[in-house]
Amino acid sequence: MAYEENFQQMSDLKYDCLLFDIDDTLYPFSSGLSTLVTNNIQEYMIQKLGIEEDKVQELCLELYKIYGTTMAGLKAVGYDFDYDDFHRFVHGRLPYTTLKPDPILRNIILSLPFRKVVFTNADKAHAAMIIARLGLEGCFEKIISFETLNPNTKTESPVAATETRAIFDICSKPFEVAFEHVFKMTNINPHKTLFFDDSIRNIQTGKRVGLHTVWVGTSHKDEGVDTALEHIHNIREALPELWEATDDKAEEIRSRQKVAIETIA
Ligand SMILES: [Mg+2]
Repeated sequence: MAYEENFQQMSDLKYDCLLFDIDDTLYPFSSGLSTLVTNNIQEYMIQKLGIEEDKVQELCLELYKIYGTTMAGLKAVGYDFDYDDFHRFVHGRLPYTTLKPDPILRNIILSLPFRKVVFTNADKAHAAMIIARLGLEGCFEKIISFETLNPNTKTESPVAATETRAIFDICSKPFEVAFEHVFKMTNINPHKTLFFDDSIRNIQTGKRVGLHTVWVGTSHKDEGVDTALEHIHNIREALPELWEATDDKAEEIRSRQKVAIETIA
């Protein structure tokens, strides 16, 4: 009976899961990595896809806006390339060593007794590298990356790939279908989950699918934003209820257990 009651107490918590983006969320935009990623994407478009240099910047942005990511857009408008090759080119050359371990963030994450899941559009190797550089290994129960949501994108041959792929075949943020997949595969209840991301598009989709949203990297609020954080380290100041709620509940559960034990004794 006591166990059932304790379980009920835990299920009464407002949140039971934290869902994190990686890039420009777990580390700040000021690291410069995102700018280098954009440069690398544009370099890939020039070198590997033969797109004219003076058209690249505008096309890169347009595809990102329409198709969610530039990579998805390039594929959708007919360019054929290998996803792994793209990821290696775009992320493989990044100066990861500029990112330093972040023990403050590690302590914050580990001190929160909720489930923690990562949801990134980036590839698995990039996600693992960033998490390792920041010293956040072991902080998350699951890392959802490009490969998790797009498991069947290995190309046997360019011809086969062209024949079998449909436009919009890449599953990624900011599309609702990507969030729904993540909820299903990780058994996440969006109404009990706090979602951290630096992209307003992702935040607004997140809000539409029922998540509580935290826009990271700015102190400004916008439509769909529940909480805005200048830096991920500000979680404690901006969302003290995460700790208070758990402390209160934990205390309540502890005292109920004590009463139950004393009664039985
Ligand atoms: Mg991001």
